[in-house]
Amino acid sequence: MVTKQPLSLNHHNPTPAFDEGQVQTQQDALEQEHFLALQEISSRISAILDLGRLLDELIQRVMTTFGYYNVLIFLTDDKGEDLYLAASGRPLTREMQERRFKIGSGGLVGRAASAVISIFVPDVSECDFCTPSGPTILSEMAIPMLVGGLLVGVMDVESDQVGAFKEWDLQLMNTLANQVAASIKAIQLLQESRANTMALEQQTHTMMLISRIAATLTSSLDASEILDRTVRHLVELSNTDYGGVFIMEQNKQHGLVLAEYPTRQLADQRFSYPRTSSSVQQMLEMGIPHVIEDAVNHPLLAPFREQIAPLDIRSLLLVPLVARSDMIGVLFLASLGQQRTFSGEELEICQTIASQAGVAVANARLLQDIQQQKRALARKTQELTEESSKLDVILRNIADGLVVTDNTGRIILSNPVFREMAGLTPDRSLRGFLLAGCFPVTGLQSLTVQALRVPGQVFTENLEMPDGRVLKASATAMRLLPTLLDPEQEKRIAGVATILRDITHEVEVDRMKTDFISTVSHELRSPLTTILGFTNLVQRDIRRSVASYVEADEEASHTIERILENLTIIENESQRLTRIVNDLLDVSKMEAGRIKWRMSKVSLDKVINGAVAATTALAEENDLSIQVYLPPQGLPPVYGNHDRLIQVMINLLSNAIKFTRRGRIEVRGWRLNVHDGMLDISDPAPPIYRSNPTAQKMLADLQFSAGEWVLVSITDTGIGIPVKSMPHIFEKFTQGGKVLTEKPKGTGLGLAICKEIIEYHKGLIWADSEQAQGSTFSFALPLRSQAPEDTPSIPIEE
Ligand code: ADP
Repeated sequence: MVTKQPLSLNHHNPTPAFDEGQVQTQQDALEQEHFLALQEISSRISAILDLGRLLDELIQRVMTTFGYYNVLIFLTDDKGEDLYLAASGRPLTREMQERRFKIGSGGLVGRAASAVISIFVPDVSECDFCTPSGPTILSEMAIPMLVGGLLVGVMDVESDQVGAFKEWDLQLMNTLANQVAASIKAIQLLQESRANTMALEQQTHTMMLISRIAATLTSSLDASEILDRTVRHLVELSNTDYGGVFIMEQNKQHGLVLAEYPTRQLADQRFSYPRTSSSVQQMLEMGIPHVIEDAVNHPLLAPFREQIAPLDIRSLLLVPLVARSDMIGVLFLASLGQQRTFSGEELEICQTIASQAGVAVANARLLQDIQQQKRALARKTQELTEESSKLDVILRNIADGLVVTDNTGRIILSNPVFREMAGLTPDRSLRGFLLAGCFPVTGLQSLTVQALRVPGQVFTENLEMPDGRVLKASATAMRLLPTLLDPEQEKRIAGVATILRDITHEVEVDRMKTDFISTVSHELRSPLTTILGFTNLVQRDIRRSVASYVEADEEASHTIERILENLTIIENESQRLTRIVNDLLDVSKMEAGRIKWRMSKVSLDKVINGAVAATTALAEENDLSIQVYLPPQGLPPVYGNHDRLIQVMINLLSNAIKFTRRGRIEVRGWRLNVHDGMLDISDPAPPIYRSNPTAQKMLADLQFSAGEWVLVSITDTGIGIPVKSMPHIFEKFTQGGKVLTEKPKGTGLGLAICKEIIEYHKGLIWADSEQAQGSTFSFALPLRSQAPEDTPSIPIEE
């Protein structure tokens, strides 16, 4: 509420009236004049658009027109809580100039403002809350300046006389105050809007600058160029003397100043990054910028004091440079020679630009990494291409066929020789094709399947091709090599590599050899029979007819005796020759597949006992005993040829007897169950297989296919076999040099025959031996009592 009614704190004594009428007329004329002056002042100042000038003009005019001692204008501050002195008609003390009044409680001015009424004090000395602007002030009036009911300020009129103001003065000033208030408010609003526009313009300018800088930063993909530009822009923008970027090395222990502006001052110097835990450093590491106003003795700079001394850095703005959430360095702006402050806005701009620069640097580094990797990859590819072309040349030029298949039987790699062997165009790539569909013989595929089951083991098979050629195929499954990324990879199988060698010629030569042996032995048999027959005849005739005639003649008797001995030698040697010839015929027939096997269900117990019975006499002759150990329930029957299996047993037993001077011979029959790569050995397996890990490993290496097997072993305590002979003992005509008698007793064909027989039964035969300790010969037959489904039954004639 605005009261226009002036309020007097003292009883106002009107001037004494002596000629009332005249005085009234003079008064009216003065009032009229004052009023016109008021109008004049009002219209003059309303044309002024500068607040200071307006107030000065107003005060001067009021003072001169109305003869007031001083006029002071107080204006409300931004918050509308205080009044501050905006202008005064007379010079004031500094204290008075800075005076502020609280609206409500601050002296006369504050009270008039809060009560929104004009107050005049005729005698300041009687007012306990008045605060006149000087000691000469004796009366005072305070007039609130209002626009639309809102307080703009207070006009404070002072006089150096007591009771200087009258009601009229109050009314006059009240009117003026309200007119002036409107002009003041208008100017204030204008100023405010100008300030706002300027701030807005400034803000827009800054934003545009930032975005322009950001655009120039991101337009480069070279990290050092980005840093150069960032520093240059920031130095120019903040109007600092010098700026730079300190970038840390990978280990974050040292760093270099990579970019500087306007001059290179710290280049080529390595700075150690302080390992302190100061709060400034911690803040920087968290990405928060920091201002050091007095850099001269700041502890953060202590480690580099000497290095930066020539620069004379006085104030510093530090902005962390963050790339991919990692602080990679610090951007700094420095004031040289003299201190300066950095505004919050500058700090903000620097931070914004630094973060843009961080992203740009991160991108540039990423690009650099990618380019490096690309170059490395290109190098690697080049190397690989060279390697692979070398490999290709090798593969093309090896005489053997090579095919590599994956776990599913698809071809990964093949060489021209293989493709030629398969009857395909050598130039055609078979990659991705199924081996089974590319190769005319099924045996190859089953060989690779077999190899897959036991990685690392070489499986061999002779393949007869439709065109009559014979290929020897050797297949191995290869494991992948462990890699850094996948060390477990080696458990996986890369595929199967199969080498095929054309052995048609060797087979042919072998066949011719066998044919020759077979013919020769056949031809040798009849003369041998004749020699034997005639030797016997001559022996008999001599004994019967000649011996009795010469009994008396000692010398003749001696001669006859010698002739008979020689005849026995002829007989023995002829017998041995017959055995050799028979064995030779056997082997050659077996090898040529010309034997007809009578296959049936065979009791291995009977085979073992039969062979033992046949050799016991020979053993006893040599003071040896033969012990047989079989499972209590006996051995299960196998599918095979009874006589041939007896032949194997007799051969092995005769060898054991032949090569054992003292001790004993043990025969064992036992079962073996192979499943999931494990061997279950049943009793009474020879101790060697139960306790000796090496022998067990050897047993495991024998490539037993999964299923049940029957094993028979003959262990002797004889001379044993030298290690170097071991690989050859199953070959034809292999005889271990000096046997007990110095003279070979056998034919060197026994074990070769055994091998042929056992392999015909799809079995395995092998030997373990230790020189001077004894040998164990073993054979294993797959446990089945009839012909396997995949083999055609064999004719029974032998
Ligand atoms: P042989 O007719 O000479 O016995 P084999 O083929 O049966 O021919 O044997 C080949 C060679 O293997 C023998 O000459 C011998 O050196 C060695 N051999 C075979 N069995 C034994 C054994 N039980 N103990 C020691 N050496 C053996």
